[in-house]
Amino acid sequence: MAQGEKILVIGSRGQIGTELVEELRQMYGESNVFESDLKDPGPHDINYIQLNVLDKDALYGAVKKHGITQVYLLAALLSATAEKNPAFAWELNMNSLFYILDMAKEKHLKKVYWPSSIAAFGPTTPKKNTPQHTIMDPATVYGISKLAGERWCEYYFQKYQVDVRSLRYPGLIGYKSLPGGGTTDYAVDIFYKARQGVKFTSFLSADTTLPMMYMDDAIRATVEIMEAPSETIKIRSSYNVAGMSFSPAGIAAEIKLQIPDFQIEYMPDFRQEIANGWPHSIDDGMARADWGWKNHYNLNKLVNIMLANIRV
Ligand code: NAD
Repeated sequence: MAQGEKILVIGSRGQIGTELVEELRQMYGESNVFESDLKDPGPHDINYIQLNVLDKDALYGAVKKHGITQVYLLAALLSATAEKNPAFAWELNMNSLFYILDMAKEKHLKKVYWPSSIAAFGPTTPKKNTPQHTIMDPATVYGISKLAGERWCEYYFQKYQVDVRSLRYPGLIGYKSLPGGGTTDYAVDIFYKARQGVKFTSFLSADTTLPMMYMDDAIRATVEIMEAPSETIKIRSSYNVAGMSFSPAGIAAEIKLQIPDFQIEYMPDFRQEIANGWPHSIDDGMARADWGWKNHYNLNKLVNIMLANIRV
C-alpha cells in the first residue's frame, strides 16, 4: 500500500460509499480519507466535505486544499432513477467523470476509480457468461452513460496516461446501507420484508436472472484493483467482475429454507424492461487473470449473512 496517499470518495453517502469509506479508513487511516456528498454532514463526521460534484470550482478547491491524490467517483444517477430524468442523468454521470479525468490529466490526481455497470451491456449482448469484449448496445440512459464513460476512461489512459481503473459492478447487495434507485434493488428489499414477516412484491418477474454480488466482494474488488500494480491493469475501460446470478424466484426459495412462511408475488413494472436488456451471468476471466480477482460469496452465504444481520 503506497504511503502519503490522500483519498477522496465522491458520492460517499450512497450504498457503496458508506461501506467503501469504512474500508479505506481502515486501510489508509481516518485522517487520509475524505468523503463528500450532497447530503448534510452529521454531528460526528470527520473529513466530510459537503459538495456538489457538478460544482467544478468547489471540486477543484477541495482537491487542492486537502492535497488529494486519489478519487473514487461514486456520485451518479442509477438505472431506474436515470430513466425518469435522462437529461440530468447524462449531465451528472458524464460531467462528473470529465472533471475527475481532467484533474488527473492535469496531474492534480495520481489515480482515479470510477465504476461502470453490467448496464453497459444491451439487448443483443450474449446473455450467458457475457464476455469481457462483446456487443455492447445499452438501451437505457444509465447504460449509455456507463458505456460512454468506459470509452472515455480508456481514451484518457491511452492519450494522457491517466491511471484510471474501473469495474463493471453487477447488482450489489449488503445490509449496512440501502440501494439508491437501481434495477436490482429488489434483492435488498426482499430481506427486509422477509424479516418483517410480510409478503414481498417483486417488481421483476419470477425468472429474471441477473448477475449480483455481495457488498464485501464488491468493496474488496474495488480496493484490490486500486492496489494492483499499474502494469497488471491491462483493461482501462472497465473489467467484468462476477459474484453470483439468481432470479427473484431463486432468492425467494433460498429465503424460504430459513423462513418457510415467506411469501412472494410478482408485479413487474418499468424496471422489467431494463432488466430484460441485461446479462444473466458474467465471464470475469480477465479480472481473475490480470489482477487476481476471486469472489468469496455465493447465494447461500449471502442469504445467511443478510438474514442474520437485518433487524426490523
Ligand atoms: P447511490 O445512489 O446509493 O449513491 C450515490 C451517492 O451520490 C448518493 O449518496 C448521492 O447523494 C450522491 N450524489 C448524487 N448526486 C451528487 C452530486 N451532484 N454531488 C455529490 N454527490 C452526489 O449509488 P451507489 O449504489 O452507491 O453507486 C455508486 C456508483 O456505483 C454509481 O456510479 C453506480 O452507477 C455504480 N454502480 C452501482 C451498483 C449497485 O448495485 N449499487 C451497480 C453497478 C454500478
